[in-house]
Amino acid sequence: MTTKKTPKSATQRDLRFATRAVRAGTTRSEFGEHSEAMYLTSSFVFDDAEQAARRFQNQEPGVVYSRFTNPSVQMFEERLASLEGAERCVATSSGMSAIHAVCLAFLKAGDHIVTTPSLFGATIQLFENYLVKFGVSVSYVSLTDPQAWANAITPSTRLIYLETPSNPLTEIADIAAIAKTAKAKGVPLVVDNCFCTPALQQPLAMGADLVVHSATKYIDGQGRVLGGAVAGPSVLVEPIYQVVRTCGPSLSPFNAWVLHKGLETLDLRMKAHSASALTLAQWLEAHPKVSRVLYPGLASHPQHALAMRQQSAGGAIVSFEVNGATPDEQRQNAFRVINAVEVISVTGNLGDTRTTITHSATTTHGRLSEEARARAGIRQSLIRVAVGLEDIEDLKADLDRGLSA
Ligand SMILES: *Cc1c(COP(=O)(O)O)cnc(C)c1O
Repeated sequence: MTTKKTPKSATQRDLRFATRAVRAGTTRSEFGEHSEAMYLTSSFVFDDAEQAARRFQNQEPGVVYSRFTNPSVQMFEERLASLEGAERCVATSSGMSAIHAVCLAFLKAGDHIVTTPSLFGATIQLFENYLVKFGVSVSYVSLTDPQAWANAITPSTRLIYLETPSNPLTEIADIAAIAKTAKAKGVPLVVDNCFCTPALQQPLAMGADLVVHSATKYIDGQGRVLGGAVAGPSVLVEPIYQVVRTCGPSLSPFNAWVLHKGLETLDLRMKAHSASALTLAQWLEAHPKVSRVLYPGLASHPQHALAMRQQSAGGAIVSFEVNGATPDEQRQNAFRVINAVEVISVTGNLGDTRTTITHSATTTHGRLSEEARARAGIRQSLIRVAVGLEDIEDLKADLDRGLSA
């Protein structure tokens, strides 16, 4: 098949972000389709036995089998790499399989990771229930204290792993400061960029070595498919690609196509999510029944200046605390707000056009002990909202129903 490729410059950095989001990583078939075709096939045929041999031995570029080479997946990888400013990207079946593949690529028995308790719950489960079983040790430090990261690194440390802003408290890690330490010690820094996406934050430009994604969230942005990705320099992405090729947590071509098209609206969506989230956060901050609002875009956020230095906007996640004298009363008040919504969806998920609301202490962080939750600062009064793309006035009215009751 002859392919008509878009001009090479579409993937290069001289075009601006929004342009690359709709133009980068497009491969055309002989039909010259304008919208990218979806390559739903498990394998590919060869002209002859010689070509098959060359393809299998990597002596000729081209596709072989969809566990490790598929045009729809490659288009998504190329577009996301361009947006993250990365040399290369490998896509995976979910965010968790992306994180797992990074671990398999870089860790062996006796190795050590430095990370933080302010992580997505399943990431901590992966470290605690599986990595530890294979002889990897894990140290947890405060996300917001760069010196603590430096102090925790030992001669066995092989990965430094964080996500920022954190869920649900929107704490911010100083990516450049931690990256400087990581560089000095020769340990790769991995940043989960799920909450901001490259539209708002580009960790590689701040010195991180790898970016991981749950593409399930804002990259899809419409709550349809699971997917994940890891982006960075070729020398670090190649071993992760080999894990995906061998162990098989590959992204399906259908999901890749959905995510590829999702990237076309990412810039617009993240700006709209962030603008609504800021308006809602300001409104909540002025509400008499709300005791505290956590949103990186608010001047009252303890790390507002750092957040605005490394993010172009605050993102979609707003957390707030309702009044209440005791933990029981706080929980009752939080539940009343959640139970009164008629528009917003009551679900732990995020990264959707539809606004979602959850009580973190009894859902996403419900498996933590009371003490661990207290240490993490996740109180019974806390409500997390992932602001979608509905009209902001409808969202305010929906939350005010329970708050003012
Ligand atoms: C959802 C999420 C993940 C896991 O992604 P899946 O696609 O659900 O496997 C990892 N990190 C963060 C920050 C997430 O929100």
